Amino acid sequence: MDLKDLYRDVILDHNRQPRNFGRIESPDGRAEGHNPLCGDRLSVCVRMDGERVADIRFEGHGCAISTASASLMTEAVKGKDRAAIAALFARVHALLTQPQAAVDAGLGKLAALSGVREFPARVKCASLCWHTLNAALAHGTATVSTE
Ligand code: ZN
Repeated sequence: MDLKDLYRDVILDHNRQPRNFGRIESPDGRAEGHNPLCGDRLSVCVRMDGERVADIRFEGHGCAISTASASLMTEAVKGKDRAAIAALFARVHALLTQPQAAVDAGLGKLAALSGVREFPARVKCASLCWHTLNAALAHGTATVSTE
């Protein structure tokens, strides 16, 4: 199995069985995200413990990449503080948009998203959940669009 097969399996697995799917009662932050190019719709809820994301859930419907990316994101950010999440998003964004960006081990399973950069039209599918999370962290409640 080469790396591309491994990455594809991670995406398929997280699309079929999304982690942290659902909602949080009385969340500290919640945002809706919409990617009109593809039709992806997500909502992201967070419960905070100070600066740290204590719990995160998402729901909605979208393509396999948007669902898998949101599932991978929730696993990656749970327990992290705002600064660590911002740093991680910067690395994921580089991974998605810069062909030369390093796929380093620190990204963990998020490295599976590196395959998306071969399909520029799908980058917004993969980044939608991150923009939605940022809105939930910044404003408490918000609606964002990738357009
Ligand atoms: Zn999509």
